[in-house]
Amino acid sequence: MQRDGATTSLWQHNVSDHNAGGATLPGTVDVLIVGGGITGLATALLLQQSGKQCLVAEAHTLCYGTTGGTTAHLNTFFDTTYDMVESDFGEEGARLLHTAARSALDLVKRNIAEFGIDCGHSDRDGYVYAQTEKQEQQLDKTFQSSVNAGAEVEYTDTIPVPLPFRKAIVYRRQAQFHPTRYVLALAKAFESLGGRIVQGCRVQDFESEGDLLHVNTSFTRITARWLIWATHIPPGINLLHFRNAPYRSYAIAAKLSDEAAYPEGLAYDLYDPYHYYRTQEVDGERYLIAGGEDHKTAHETNTEGCFAKLEAHVRNHFPVAEVAFRWSSQYFEPSDGLPYIGHLPGNPDNVLVATGYSGNGMTYSHIAAMTLSDLIVKGESGYAKLLAPGRVKPVAGFMDFVKENADVVAQFVGKRLKASTLKELADLAPGEGRLVKYEGTSIALYKDAGGKLYALNPVCTHAKCVVDWNSAERSWDCPCHGARYDVNGDVLTGPARKNLEPIDLEELDS
Ligand SMILES: Cc1cc2nc3c(=O)[nH]c(=O)nc-3n(C[C@H](O)[C@H](O)[C@H](O)COP(=O)(O)OP(=O)(O)OC[C@H]3O[C@@H](n4cnc5c(N)ncnc54)[C@H](O)[C@@H]3O)c2cc1C
Repeated sequence: MQRDGATTSLWQHNVSDHNAGGATLPGTVDVLIVGGGITGLATALLLQQSGKQCLVAEAHTLCYGTTGGTTAHLNTFFDTTYDMVESDFGEEGARLLHTAARSALDLVKRNIAEFGIDCGHSDRDGYVYAQTEKQEQQLDKTFQSSVNAGAEVEYTDTIPVPLPFRKAIVYRRQAQFHPTRYVLALAKAFESLGGRIVQGCRVQDFESEGDLLHVNTSFTRITARWLIWATHIPPGINLLHFRNAPYRSYAIAAKLSDEAAYPEGLAYDLYDPYHYYRTQEVDGERYLIAGGEDHKTAHETNTEGCFAKLEAHVRNHFPVAEVAFRWSSQYFEPSDGLPYIGHLPGNPDNVLVATGYSGNGMTYSHIAAMTLSDLIVKGESGYAKLLAPGRVKPVAGFMDFVKENADVVAQFVGKRLKASTLKELADLAPGEGRLVKYEGTSIALYKDAGGKLYALNPVCTHAKCVVDWNSAERSWDCPCHGARYDVNGDVLTGPARKNLEPIDLEELDS
């Protein structure tokens, strides 16, 4: 199974890409869902079950995005803690969020039961533990606000991982599963109900005509009554790009030398970024999954080092026999802590979006599925106001972050490299990528294992920030809004619509 990076996640192992068949595409649909990750498929299935004719269009293959690079904890608590939600959205907002989370986890279970999905799902307790005095105070606040929000949470004297701790709480009825097996099964269920899926089809833009949207794709033009951007972040330039910051996060799946050392529950520490652990059995083999070392996209030069730090941390506490898989992936941090689910600002009323999930998209995808399908089928949703993308809750410092990166823009326009500089530029190790300076402007240069050079204009085609090299995933990543490109400059993940401009070195050599 393919993914948007060079590393292989546990969820790609022994899983084949979805075969959507080669039938012709419908010219008109009720709902065009763009993006074949967990959000796209969970939403499409609910809508198809409600009698809507739906088409899912995926630019690559299903689960190519972050869904293939997740760690798949299903939680009713979030990276934005309930005390933060309470202070910004009120007690009622926190209670509503918890109700939504509980319903999301129930929906996952209903899907699994209804369609007989074999995806290693099991209910688990989720432990959060404090290791310092300051974290203890934070934990107490989180505990009280979680109780207020309606969570089944209590203090506990034990945690399922061998780390020292001062205080801990446990959330009951959390869960875990194998995310790509779940999503691929949702895809089959969706198709069995008459839904259609097209892969390798990038949705570009649309024109609106009355209640209809004429949507341009890399295949054909499709007319839809509704359009949902389930693309993790919507493409093009939109208000939401200034309210979401892209982050990279790292994970490993390790085999342990002692069977008794695999944790029974889900566990999270309280550092920022935090570490987390769980166990998943896949095809009869158990793995310890651990994650952390998050940073803003393209703000860490040594991305390989993030894996090394994570692995060292895990080896310090667990009897690791072998690290079987290691991978990194991207998420989007919303500026006020809650995701943006509903009408996409600046667009016609029938264009919807779901983005800004932080590290909680397994749950938020199902909250999005319920919210968006209710908005389309019933015209309203109990969660719509809380999660409305048009809400205004600016956070100090966030805009500075975007501006700071936008400032470094330098255009590589019509410049030509001299042959003499090529030698200097070629001074890269095989497999290395780097921004190199040429007459005051930057060039994104990568040398493959065979010594071939790939040169690109590093100016991101989305909002003109400058991309940087991600050695762990062999990609060019944009620090501003998270667009990512492969070594040929082709878009791996949005919001960019266009590839990076290639620079023909042979031509320049003359
Ligand atoms: C390392 C890591 C660990 C995580 N762990 C957890 C966890 O334990 N629990 C949890 O709840 N959440 C977790 N998350 C977050 C969660 O994985 C994501 O929020 C979730 O997978 C996002 O799903 P999605 O379907 O919205 O987006 P994606 O899975 O990214 O899917 C979007 C799809 O849209 C396609 N696409 C994009 N643009 C276009 C276009 N123009 N036309 C057609 N297709 C397009 C892409 O190819 C992609 O396949 C984690 C995130 C990371 C990075």
